[in-house]
Amino acid sequence: MAPLSARVSDEPVTKLADDPRSSRGLAWIEKNSSWVTDQQIRLTEIPAPEFGEARRAAALKEILAALGLQVRVDKTGNVVAERTGSEAKAASAKNVILIAAHLDTVFPEYADVRVRRDGARLLAPGISDNGAGLGALVGLARALGESKVGTEKTIILAGDVGEEGEGNLRGIRALIEAYGSRLAAVIALDGPSSDHITTQGIASRRIEVSVTGAGGHSWSDFGTPNPITAISRGIVRFSSFSVRSDPRSTFNFGVIEGGTSVNSVPSRAAVKVDLRSEDDRELARLESALSDAMQTGMNDEISTTRADRDALQINFRSLGTRPAGKLPDDSPLLITIRSVDRYLGNAPRLEKSSTDANLPLSLGIPAVSIGGGGKGGGSHTPEEWYDPSGRELGLKRLFLITLSLAGVDR
Ligand SMILES: [Zn+2]
Repeated sequence: MAPLSARVSDEPVTKLADDPRSSRGLAWIEKNSSWVTDQQIRLTEIPAPEFGEARRAAALKEILAALGLQVRVDKTGNVVAERTGSEAKAASAKNVILIAAHLDTVFPEYADVRVRRDGARLLAPGISDNGAGLGALVGLARALGESKVGTEKTIILAGDVGEEGEGNLRGIRALIEAYGSRLAAVIALDGPSSDHITTQGIASRRIEVSVTGAGGHSWSDFGTPNPITAISRGIVRFSSFSVRSDPRSTFNFGVIEGGTSVNSVPSRAAVKVDLRSEDDRELARLESALSDAMQTGMNDEISTTRADRDALQINFRSLGTRPAGKLPDDSPLLITIRSVDRYLGNAPRLEKSSTDANLPLSLGIPAVSIGGGGKGGGSHTPEEWYDPSGRELGLKRLFLITLSLAGVDR
């Protein structure tokens, strides 16, 4: 086959879409997007908190196996379906296209994940992030099956674990280790919509800051430095730190905990912080400012009491690091996606975000993150919603991008 870089005109997409096998797949999508929505609902209604994705993984495995695919769950917990290409035996070639949608959500096991309907909208935590991505993954698998198309490159369809929160990208990491040098491109399906191509991965660090001390009785030990107060002083200090808008950088104190009862001076308090930046150096600056602010907050707390200077201890623990990375503007992967979008009359914007694509991008493997089609909002909140109207566009887009990258057998 021609190298990817040679396929820069839109003519191959027109030819591909007109091929009777791909036409069958596209026609299936046109008529059956409600089947895709049903699978999305089924998967969304199975809780999948960080480190608790196994039940949802088993359901995804069952759906993919029912489509006739060879599916396994790897030792990390990823669901992996393989559609072997005709070039699979070419030992040294880059002959694998990885399409991955993360299985996990930011919601706990006990969250009510039943899907409610409000007009055209479906409401449930995780219905868009990443119900929409998982729906698109399953829709792609079915459309490929219905088309009966064979491809040159092997297509790996994966539901991966550990994208959110403290998962630290362990799922996509394991997939990249497994396919490594064979990977020609990685597409992370994340969330709804067809309006963006994420080509830049935002660097992030997640840190737990904890303060410990002797603790005591709220009355008789009054004056003992208080870890909750110390942490709070640090948070207030850091919150007045000026964060740059260029390169765009952000911070969030997301979880706070500590103490055992209202009438005890706690012996421990901790806060989890998420720092992000478009630039690795700016991220390092944020991290050192956080460290200074929390340290100073603790010292302020000690100095308001008559306690010894070492009456409280502070500890910083890394919960995860995401490397930054960027897909070059002239990347064949981006050129291919743009050709498909022109063919479909779709005009997406380029975006920066923190997704599964960060990892391959940081390793120089061509990767993007795109949405699974339809519309959605309220991601990471209990009011999350998804509207499947227009999801066919997202599915056709994914189908044509996948076949363009994998190459259709003659
Ligand atoms: Zn997501």
